[in-house]
Amino acid sequence: MEFDTIAAIATPMGEGGIAIVRVSGPEAIAVVDKLYRGRKKLSTVDSHTIHYGHLVDPQTGERIEEVLVTVMRAPRTYTREDVVEVNCHGGLVSVRRVLNYILKYGARLAEPGEFTKRAFLNGRIDLSQAEAVIDLIRAKTDRAMKNAMKQVEGRLSKLIKRLRQELIETLAHIEVTIDYPEHDVEEVTQQFLREKCEQVKKEIEHLLATAEQGKILREGLKTAIIGRPNVGKSSLLNALAHENRAIVTDIPGTTRDVLEEYVNVRGVPLQLIDTAGIRETEDVVERIGVERSRQVLKEADLILLVLNIAEPFTEEDQALLDLVKDMKTILIVNKTDLEPKLDTDQLKERYPHLPLIKMSIKEEKGLDELEQAIADLYFKGDIEAGDMTYVSNSRHIALLNEAKQSIEDALAALEMGLPVDVVQIDIRKAWEKLGEIIGDNVSESLIDQLFSQFCLGK
Ligand code: GDP
Ligand code: ZN
Repeated sequence: MEFDTIAAIATPMGEGGIAIVRVSGPEAIAVVDKLYRGRKKLSTVDSHTIHYGHLVDPQTGERIEEVLVTVMRAPRTYTREDVVEVNCHGGLVSVRRVLNYILKYGARLAEPGEFTKRAFLNGRIDLSQAEAVIDLIRAKTDRAMKNAMKQVEGRLSKLIKRLRQELIETLAHIEVTIDYPEHDVEEVTQQFLREKCEQVKKEIEHLLATAEQGKILREGLKTAIIGRPNVGKSSLLNALAHENRAIVTDIPGTTRDVLEEYVNVRGVPLQLIDTAGIRETEDVVERIGVERSRQVLKEADLILLVLNIAEPFTEEDQALLDLVKDMKTILIVNKTDLEPKLDTDQLKERYPHLPLIKMSIKEEKGLDELEQAIADLYFKGDIEAGDMTYVSNSRHIALLNEAKQSIEDALAALEMGLPVDVVQIDIRKAWEKLGEIIGDNVSESLIDQLFSQFCLGK
């Protein structure tokens, strides 16, 4: 495939003393050569070498900027095209000036993500790696960054490729059976197919299980704070937000009764959501709020259910507990600075599987224990392992689920004793769905949509 030559500022705007303009494409070296004055013409230098010099206006001879120019020839480059990187140590104004000259002398301004798109289209990286670059750009915490790095290295791709190989072998086996349909071959085949399908299904399920964590890492763990009015929900949200660095600020904020805050608790990014009390009501406006709370609950990864130790356990508390008993929930008994009217021992007995934290937000007690409990719930054992592949992308998760469904269909068909060519269709579909994760069988528009998410210069 032949492309034109593109250029963009590749370093974050307004950060650091050095800025880089990246140029990629067949004319990259020629374009910069028109502006560059140094010991040698760039067209004559070795690949992957750095050169000191100046950029000058070819018409007036005026010096534009003192530069270091890196020349990298195809194919050992990020885009697999000729790439030139111009390092200028001026600020924003001078880097823009350099970019403008490069654009004036033959390059086109790159669209967001276009460098990475080319890396993908030129076969340098596969789609899941490209998406991991998007994640890298957006990574909000160190952990998310590590996760994204791993994906760049292609762990997920390797795994998916292996699964697809298994499925291809299975399909090949079916072909043989269809060509030689003797009875006993059929018998063996059924057994073989079932085992293969069970195996692939298990691996997909494992990936999906880690996906739960991947999702957390990427967007923050959706954490709903619920409880009756006045138990201290807002106080808890404020305490957590105050103690921990807020991660994101440009998230739509307050609604009538749902307040959101992004915080980083011991490496776990949380999206805290303070909900209105969830109760039956006649008031329409309030009911909408309550509806929203129920919705929040449904989507939540973690529930913090707050109770007030200074008041006896109420029917409402019970109703809330019933509502969340099957979700990942931490019970918080607040206001321990007051006279206790709530039997926490009894609560522990009845809900032995739920972590229970006693707090006095007013006296700043118990917050450490709560933070530890949150970190434990998500990080104990799993993340420390360091060699897991995390799926951190909702498109991947959806495709994995579809692939899993197809495998389940295949297994059901086998169970019913349907002919193998029916099974074949399902297995093929699973193979295609997995292929979409790494960029096989993707339509042009999907590619465009994905790459338009990139920042400029990447
Ligand atoms: P929400 O309605 O559940 O959001 O509760 P708020 O966070 O608005 O708190 C209700 C009241 O309880 C406020 O007056 C808080 O100052 C108070 N409060 C919160 N935490 C504590 C605590 O640990 N001890 C005491 N004594 N009061 C608290
Ligand atoms: Zn509140």
